Amino acid sequence: MRDRPATAVPLLRQLETIVGTRWIVTDDEALAPWCTDWRGRHSGVPMAMVAPADEGEVQQVMRCCASAAVPVVTQGGNTGLVGGAICDGSGTQLLLSLRRLNTIRVDNETRTLLCGAGAVLEAVHAAAEREGLRFPLSLASKGSATIGGLASTNAGGTQVLRHGTMRSLVTGVHAVLADGNLLVADTGLRKDNRGFDLKQLFIGSEGTLGIITAVRLVLRPAAVARHTAWLGVDSPEQALSVLTRLQARLPDQVEAFELMPEVCVGNVVRYLAERQPPLQGDHPWHVLVEVVDEGRLLTGEALANEVEAALGALLKTGMIRDAVLAASGAQAAAFWRLRESLSAAEKAAGPALQHDIAVQPDQMPAVIRDLAKEVPAAFPGYSTRAFGHLGDGNIHLHVVPPPEAGPGWQSGVGRKISQFVYDAIVARGGTISAEHGIGAEKRELLARTADPVMLGVMRSVKQALDPDELLNPGKLVPLAPEQARP
Ligand SMILES: Cc1cc2nc3c(=O)[nH]c(=O)nc-3n(C[C@H](O)[C@H](O)[C@H](O)COP(=O)(O)OP(=O)(O)OC[C@H]3O[C@@H](n4cnc5c(N)ncnc54)[C@H](O)[C@@H]3O)c2cc1C
Repeated sequence: MRDRPATAVPLLRQLETIVGTRWIVTDDEALAPWCTDWRGRHSGVPMAMVAPADEGEVQQVMRCCASAAVPVVTQGGNTGLVGGAICDGSGTQLLLSLRRLNTIRVDNETRTLLCGAGAVLEAVHAAAEREGLRFPLSLASKGSATIGGLASTNAGGTQVLRHGTMRSLVTGVHAVLADGNLLVADTGLRKDNRGFDLKQLFIGSEGTLGIITAVRLVLRPAAVARHTAWLGVDSPEQALSVLTRLQARLPDQVEAFELMPEVCVGNVVRYLAERQPPLQGDHPWHVLVEVVDEGRLLTGEALANEVEAALGALLKTGMIRDAVLAASGAQAAAFWRLRESLSAAEKAAGPALQHDIAVQPDQMPAVIRDLAKEVPAAFPGYSTRAFGHLGDGNIHLHVVPPPEAGPGWQSGVGRKISQFVYDAIVARGGTISAEHGIGAEKRELLARTADPVMLGVMRSVKQALDPDELLNPGKLVPLAPEQARP
């Protein structure tokens, strides 16, 4: 057992009386799974991990931490990709796990779902489906990511095209503030014009303004049917034209449109030990597209026929090279398994630099094409792979090193490459973080690239809500220039 500062001992005793011995972890081996992020890039040393049972216990924990001046790092499923849920290495921060706050209640009247922040996305999907409804946000980490984490990072995923990010799917938030008070921004009112929309302040705030304890989500009608197709196309330009045509024929019904290059499809097929990819032969780019029948707009056989006709017309005109429409739910699930395993397959394929970037959707094909040329031209041997949510103008751009790249390339030339990529995106009016957030990883980058007025407002909000820097310090909100100086 590691020695802890003398000041930690009375706090840990207090916390133990709040949550019970079982729910406070101080042993380093037991803490290990919660100390490193999914990509293995960020590691920390928490003073301890505490897992309260409910909102009241979160308030008590926060009050104790505030009076002991101990910072709190909130963690949900620890699937975040920017090091936001990881403590620093000082051993002085408390890791607060919200996983026990996992109640889920569906309200059929209002078509909403109120859940604890620790409810796992997959469990939320299942609860909504049991009531003949659905929560239309999904991502590959759905088996672990929590609703609190999703709200705190304003997560996106594969259905943003039709339903938006968490910002458009949350109607209420409960949050424990730095002083332990509980803010309930969940009125259920369709109209409420009493000033700021405070729930939106907490969405995307990455645990730096408050601890989200409960969230009310908007539900949609259950899917009557899904039409899922795998397409082969020549280029991202062509993929985008395909999307435009599909959206014109099926207004408000195309729900997912995911772009993948051949090399990533090959990697994921090998990673999953699949017998073969969905399409025969090689295609430079692949697209997974899904049209969902909610029993309104075009529905039933009419929708099925329209999807087939639309794909047939695209094949005939040569806009798509090949296509396969899933013949069963199992085949559609197999297509999705490939897409959702892409990040894990890329991780297994070897180290790479990841960039979660977005520009206006119509500009993304040019960005993909330009960076595929410009990165190797500036950094010989390095190549790019772009995959993801083309319809949202958001792709994950991985830069892969040549085999001869020595150890430490990521912190050496890798930093310059990332700077090159981000500068190119900012120059095109895009964003350095489309859906993963800022966390610890991109805080300096945000400071370097964002409008100083915007940064000033962010700092003022942080200062107003968390003057003593108790909530996830070192994440998201950049230091003021005078603090940043050595
Ligand atoms: C394979 C894979 C695929 C992914 N795909 C996508 C994708 O398509 N789209 C996308 O947007 N993201 C994606 N992600 C990223 C990740 O799943 C999301 O960021 C998710 O929202 C994190 O949820 P979590 O519960 O794991 O949060 P954590 O990782 O535990 O925390 C993330 C951040 O939120 C804060 N936080 C967590 N819970 C709370 C709370 N209750 N109150 C206040 N702050 C809190 C943490 O302090 C941290 O800053 C992917 C991740 C993986 C591993």
